[in-house]
Amino acid sequence: MSKRNVRYGAELRKRADKVDTLRQSLFPCPACGKKKVKRTGNSLWSCKSCGGVFAGGTYSLSTPSGEVAARLVEEHKNR
Ligand SMILES: [Zn+2]
Repeated sequence: MSKRNVRYGAELRKRADKVDTLRQSLFPCPACGKKKVKRTGNSLWSCKSCGGVFAGGTYSLSTPSGEVAARLVEEHKNR
């Protein structure tokens, strides 16, 4: 294996690690401010503290473009 291939593999692993960390970490809640927001589905985030559900990016609550994409999802609140 050439040196080039080794470096390419390391880069890939580094990127995968970063994504993994983002998926597992908790984010500050836009509603209550507590760092309890966890990814629950594709682009869906829920706060373990206040129970709020937000739509955000796939791997982090805010999108790479920097805009505030998180918004409260009114999900069957009166059920
Ligand atoms: Zn909250």
